[in-house]
Amino acid sequence: MKMAVEACMLAGMAVGAIAPLAAQQAASQPARHWSIVVHGGAGVIARADLGPAAEAAYRASLAKATEAGAQVLDRGGSSLDAVEATINILEDDPLFNAGRGANFSAEGKNELDASIMDGSNLKAGAVADVTRTRHPISLARAVMEKSPHVLLVGAGADAFAARVGLEQVEPSFFFTESRWQSLVKQLQKEGRPVPPRPVGAPPPGPAVPVAQIDESEGSRRFGTVGVVALDRAGNIAAGTSTGGMQAKMPGRVGDSPIIGAGTYASNQSCAVSGTGTGEYFIRLGVAREVCNLVFFKGMKLQEAADQVIHKELEALHGDGGVIAITPDGQLAWSFNTPGMFRARQVEGGKMEIGVYSDEP
Ligand code: ASP
Repeated sequence: MKMAVEACMLAGMAVGAIAPLAAQQAASQPARHWSIVVHGGAGVIARADLGPAAEAAYRASLAKATEAGAQVLDRGGSSLDAVEATINILEDDPLFNAGRGANFSAEGKNELDASIMDGSNLKAGAVADVTRTRHPISLARAVMEKSPHVLLVGAGADAFAARVGLEQVEPSFFFTESRWQSLVKQLQKEGRPVPPRPVGAPPPGPAVPVAQIDESEGSRRFGTVGVVALDRAGNIAAGTSTGGMQAKMPGRVGDSPIIGAGTYASNQSCAVSGTGTGEYFIRLGVAREVCNLVFFKGMKLQEAADQVIHKELEALHGDGGVIAITPDGQLAWSFNTPGMFRARQVEGGKMEIGVYSDEP
């Protein structure tokens, strides 16, 4: 438009003269449809280990969260709002490794990471190692919108959350029996010291079905959550939230809060959220790599996602997956693990939910 205006001015035409043409062009644009893709982590998810009850619980949780994001988009809300609303629900859901239900570090703490990015302006916000903020994704958004920075960590990030009025909780809010038992089991198996049960944790009780996934042989205990969305205005956004890898060293930061690694969004190419062993995702810059293949090589989104996950990530022996979306409505997911919790919905279409690799 700017170039058209400049061209008209050079040609000595009144700027107003091009208005009807621009209006005509806008009118001939096809109506944009919103769409949303959600993941709830990738890993060794085997039918026999998960069992029908847990599988049904995961599918129901994915449906509920995706529906919340879809409603935001259907009301004409922004992709950014849809990403945050969907992740808020998953952060409160103990089945997923984000917010309540997060993995524990080797010292028995929940240290939470999250990031969000707005594809319309490349603004981004991220937090790492937060321990008191109920919704780390909302804090990431606050960093983006209310601070001059992109990434805040630890106590400073929680203090900022309190200052901007985000709900603060006791660290034991994030405790779940299943993640705790899973940590204890791993540390015992590896002959490492088991930390004391966290202060404020409820007395030992039954674990939710998530434990069965965690204990399956070879599991990397994934369960990170992520969302990418396209709104009716044509803007895309991405967000990711996690408790990180189980039994991680205190202070370890994975890919999820690293812009370009676990999360990326640009209206010029695509929006991506990843899940997997974060160290590989950081080294490859996975999310940005997918978008670069779309932007520089002109690849279709699915081809780009598959190239990064099945060729580049695998070449490093990394594991995990991505979900992705483009402003022209291409949707993709790709993973090299036996399963990835995932869902997607396009305006006017039926919601699709998948868990195992043999599903579409
Ligand atoms: N990528 C996350 C991390 O490394 C873990 C995951 O996605 O499961 O912290």
